[in-house]
Amino acid sequence: MTILLHACCGPCSTASVCRLIEAGWTVVLYFPNSNIWPEAEHAKRYEELLKVADHHKLTVIKERYDHEKWLEAVAGLEREGEGGARCSRCFAYNLAQAHDKAVELGIGHFTTTLTVSRFKNSRQIFSVGEQFDGFEAIDFKKRGGFEASTRLAKEMGLYRQHYCGCEFSGENKRFASVRR
Ligand code: SF4
Repeated sequence: MTILLHACCGPCSTASVCRLIEAGWTVVLYFPNSNIWPEAEHAKRYEELLKVADHHKLTVIKERYDHEKWLEAVAGLEREGEGGARCSRCFAYNLAQAHDKAVELGIGHFTTTLTVSRFKNSRQIFSVGEQFDGFEAIDFKKRGGFEASTRLAKEMGLYRQHYCGCEFSGENKRFASVRR
């Protein structure tokens, strides 16, 4: 069985890919992530994902970066805290793209690496993902998944970012007033 894996970054993909391969899935990696800002960071995270893909000999499909369109999708939610409504909208944005790509490729299943992070609520991600046909609700942080991802990322020498992704997250908040 083939599954399209929405990959948010290299480190989160390490343990998630291993879990899926162990479970017998053939994995195709998908990197949309127009939420990531700035674009150089998007490029950097993609480069790290390529290292994971190369390690497992997996195909990676990269989507065109369009941060302005993502900003339109989360308009009015810029001041929401992490884990709030903006993040649900952000999950829906990327998972809708993953769903559409899976349909385009004739792949019947898709899921996301987002659940591996201990900073993200898997139930919130599932409630968004389950709106799309073919979504597999897999909690990658379970059974030591988060710890495995940090260990594997370290072993592979991957760059590990210190903020979620958009200009409204983590250390990037200070840039938010400039962007609005
Ligand atoms: S904090 Fe992360 S999940 Fe939330 S909107 Fe920004 S990039 Fe998306």
